[in-house]
Amino acid sequence: MLCQPEDGRNRRPAQHAAPLHGEKRGTACRAPTRTGGASPGLTNFEGVLGVKIGILAVQGDFAAHAARLAELGAETVEVRTVGDLDGCDGLILPGGESTTQLQFLQEEGLFEAVKKFAAEGGAIFGTCAGAILLATEVKNPAQTSLGLLDMTVLRNGYGRQLASDVFFGSSKLTDAPLEMVFIRAPIIERVGPGVEVLAEYGGKPVLVQKGNLMAGTFHPELARDTAVHRYFLQLVAARQGLSASVAP
Ligand code: GLN
Repeated sequence: MLCQPEDGRNRRPAQHAAPLHGEKRGTACRAPTRTGGASPGLTNFEGVLGVKIGILAVQGDFAAHAARLAELGAETVEVRTVGDLDGCDGLILPGGESTTQLQFLQEEGLFEAVKKFAAEGGAIFGTCAGAILLATEVKNPAQTSLGLLDMTVLRNGYGRQLASDVFFGSSKLTDAPLEMVFIRAPIIERVGPGVEVLAEYGGKPVLVQKGNLMAGTFHPELARDTAVHRYFLQLVAARQGLSASVAP
């Protein structure tokens, strides 16, 4: 059985070192669950240079995403206006508070611009609050969303028990256990046809993809490995027809 490592978590930003909202940091560990075979062509993690990734930078975890992508050799840009999306090959919608982010998207004209970006083939990865924004249906409570990825999400779905915790589980991305940092995470209750489940936890999808869209309910930017960001960069490169070059 795999469990939380006991060594230091030196990549973790200070604001995430303690659990949110007073939950005791758990030490529970779970046996990983295999989720099956890998998506063809996107699993070797050659590394990608030459792609530009926008990161919605309203509030939440955008700086940590930028740091992880920079480690992998990708150019990043903070997105706060429609113009910031220009020239981006991919876009990350980070964790944070989906209600706040939604309001910002609507006020700045980014709500429609992000939908257009996706419709034109731009790759989007939504993590936690970002996954909520991507979903076609949001519950607990119901909330407007971009409605780009066919899934139903339940906000704060794990309640206090699993509100903020770290687990390791299997995924289709890599043979190594994937570190999953959950912070008041939504539950993906349902995925529509053609949505591939890349990782599950507790019998629920926690990382999914359909075409150019990816969503995760955990925070890969706080993990110690870059497997999820590598996967996203591979996806971006594949969509853009870019050749991958190595960022070890
Ligand atoms: N609970 C938040 C929401 O509903 C998401 C939390 C997160 O992104 N870590 O928006």
